[in-house]
Amino acid sequence: MEISIADLKFEPLIKSAAIDARIKAIGKQLNADYQHTVPVFVGVLNGSFLFIADIIKQIDIPCEVTFTKLASYYGGTKSSLKIRDDIDFSVDIKGRDVLVIEDIVDTGNTANYLLEKLRAKQPASIKVCSLLLKPASLLKPIEELKYVGFEIENEFVVGYGLDYKEMGRNLKDIYKKV
Ligand code: 5GP
Ligand code: MG
Ligand code: MG
Repeated sequence: MEISIADLKFEPLIKSAAIDARIKAIGKQLNADYQHTVPVFVGVLNGSFLFIADIIKQIDIPCEVTFTKLASYYGGTKSSLKIRDDIDFSVDIKGRDVLVIEDIVDTGNTANYLLEKLRAKQPASIKVCSLLLKPASLLKPIEELKYVGFEIENEFVVGYGLDYKEMGRNLKDIYKKV
């Protein structure tokens, strides 16, 4: 069913049951991969707030959770290639195993910017877990991108935390622009 958000129309792309199933699978993998350490999950706000909440509920090993806030879209449907950095997180990640939780990797600029910042703090390891990936938009490969929920076409999506003009984050399913 088509829905309207502001001046755009969207149609369903990924149903919430499919998201849940994928999150369970990724959670299982994370529990296995990080069983010998205490990872620090770094959620990238705003878009990943539902994803990190759901993924963290699947984690049954000791872990820490913190957040950073980065924005690059400024209300449009194209990446602005400029990043606004609103929160510098305070957890000391030196020597820690860090897992960045992203909603979506599009051009990869935001992820690369954050990775550069994190690397400077000398963590033991850094990996990225993104719910969505647009492989066709990626400007250069991200070596640390180890966990991906769904690969999608180069299309603008909303729902499950992702917004259009700050609307639609509450939608349970993910929709694409018609
Ligand atoms: P990148 O820096 O990889 O180009 O874009 C990353 C950020 O842009 C994402 O974390 C997300 O906030 C935003 N973004 C990229 N693609 C989309 C999209 O299709 N829909 C929405 N709502 N945001 C997107
Ligand atoms: Mg994001
Ligand atoms: Mg946005």
